[in-house]
Amino acid sequence: MSVKAKVTNISRCSLHDGPGIRSVIYLKGCALRCKWCHNPETLIAGSQIAYLPDKCIKCGRCVDICPNHHTVNENDMVFLRDGCTSCGKCAEACPTGALSLIGEDRDAESVFEEIKKDVEYYKMSGGGVTFSGGECLLSPDFVAKTAEKCKAEGISTAVESALFVPWENIEKVLPYIDLFLTDLKIPDREKHISYTGQPNDIIIENLKRLVMTDKQVTVRIPIIPGVNDSQNDLESFAEILNSLEDPRVTVELLKYNYLAGTKYSMIGEKYTSFSEKTQEDKEMSRYCNIISEKTGLKCSF
Ligand code: SF4
Ligand code: SF4
Repeated sequence: MSVKAKVTNISRCSLHDGPGIRSVIYLKGCALRCKWCHNPETLIAGSQIAYLPDKCIKCGRCVDICPNHHTVNENDMVFLRDGCTSCGKCAEACPTGALSLIGEDRDAESVFEEIKKDVEYYKMSGGGVTFSGGECLLSPDFVAKTAEKCKAEGISTAVESALFVPWENIEKVLPYIDLFLTDLKIPDREKHISYTGQPNDIIIENLKRLVMTDKQVTVRIPIIPGVNDSQNDLESFAEILNSLEDPRVTVELLKYNYLAGTKYSMIGEKYTSFSEKTQEDKEMSRYCNIISEKTGLKCSF
């Protein structure tokens, strides 16, 4: 039986989210609501319509298809999202891509066929495939099935996850994943709830269990200006990392991504900016030094 998941995008030849040249599979759905999320189009599990007004030529084809949700005036196409079922018919009819459907049901077989196209690049660069999102481990059967196929072809596999999932979901993919890129966002429990909507207990518990396996784990910390970058925050991150007692763990600090605003507006959501710019290298270096000094772990950014 084929296993499906809602895929927003397959980014080929990516140099992020793991070593070498990679294909990154973005899956929809996440139980966290981090206020700085730079992939807001992956948060809800279902499909949704994106609208980019700059691409609209006011042709009115979407109005013909769905007059309840689209109107064109001399300046604009006005999109009423309330009641939209995300059937995608307006996006199909739109000639310019101003309207597009985010999230397509894909089976493991078809995604694997796409991954396979770049097998030579993976071999040459030490790369592979990364499952990301959203929270890809909310679709563990799809990830396990696709990754199993990759492993059978000698393709290296990674998962990028916040670990805010039941342990059983992680267990399902364990046999087929080489590298886990896991997020730690905010060390303090109450602050974690206030910025992500959920507590961090299950995340820390899952991380502790994960490092007990034979898997390679990189803990990634997105540094958000004014949220988790104080001396106190960094020392608290170090305390959590020390509690893992695993010298194989590496740490990666992620610079703040200040360019996500357009993604929010295209899906009709409000964007919260934490800074108009990203951090300087010397600032990130200082954060890394604090983490390394307190934990003895290798830290990069
Ligand atoms: S996705 Fe379907 S329901 Fe929503 S606006 Fe387009 S055509 Fe109408
Ligand atoms: S079909 Fe596309 S280009 Fe035409 S009015 Fe609608 S959104 Fe604009």
